[in-house]
Amino acid sequence: MKAPLLATTALGLGAITATATQEPEVQVIGQKVAGQVHILVGQGGNIGIMSGEDGVLMIDTQFAPLEEKIRGAIAEITQDVPSYVVNTHWHGDHVGGNAGFGKDGLIVAHQNVRARMKSGGGRGAPAAPEALPDLTYDDGMTIHYNGEAVHLVHLPTGHTDGDTIVFFTGSKVVHMGDLMFNDRFPFIDLDSGGSVSGYLRALKSAYAQIGADMKVIPGHGDLGTREDIAKIIRMIEASIEVVEARMAQGMSAQEIVDAGMPEEYASWSWGFIPTDRWLSTLYRGLTEEKRAQEQSR
Ligand SMILES: [Zn+2]
Repeated sequence: MKAPLLATTALGLGAITATATQEPEVQVIGQKVAGQVHILVGQGGNIGIMSGEDGVLMIDTQFAPLEEKIRGAIAEITQDVPSYVVNTHWHGDHVGGNAGFGKDGLIVAHQNVRARMKSGGGRGAPAAPEALPDLTYDDGMTIHYNGEAVHLVHLPTGHTDGDTIVFFTGSKVVHMGDLMFNDRFPFIDLDSGGSVSGYLRALKSAYAQIGADMKVIPGHGDLGTREDIAKIIRMIEASIEVVEARMAQGMSAQEIVDAGMPEEYASWSWGFIPTDRWLSTLYRGLTEEKRAQEQSR
């Protein structure tokens, strides 16, 4: 299950579909999480499916060429098609199928998701109008559906500036979007309003809201629990400490990257965010934050 995710997230982001169409062997596989919620693992961000008496609510849409396979996986759970499509953020491996699923469902997302998709976010062509969110919010929204409250909670400046995590209060499941890469270094998209300290803050805020008995769907990686989030928090705190100590010693960006991470974090390195990319993201992010603080003084 891990290998295809590695390959796929690498094309995540802006440049979407090209590789997806060239990989006909991609399979979309569903698995029950808890209560009324399933996860679909294919290529790109993990999809959440809530299915009940009212119908289907879907979280994220992976890539357009996978639409039929995704529909096939949903059909194994229910006869219904999604009436709501929630986007956790604007990256192409999470919204690529929006136009297709938006034909039957109302697309719901944070307002910055719509704004970045509409403009292209500085990374290519604007999204087609039919792929854009229909309903947007600022801080959050609750959808009362299938007998439970589905809370969409916006956490500012983390992975991007339009991140949402989704709580299924009855099923006791949360979908973290890309505020969670389970067991691997996270991607922090500094060019889409993400931030290093914001990402850490968002994780702590999420952790405080997630019950010990809840199942956690990460944007990438295997299903987890609150404890996996605690582990990520510790890893990021340790990483920031490493980079800040090196900065305080006057090491250059290149020297900081070349010095690597302590051996105990080797297993977090992966295809899309290897150790050197993680360290350079931390260096750039922390440097920019410091500069902004100095300017505001
Ligand atoms: Zn993402």
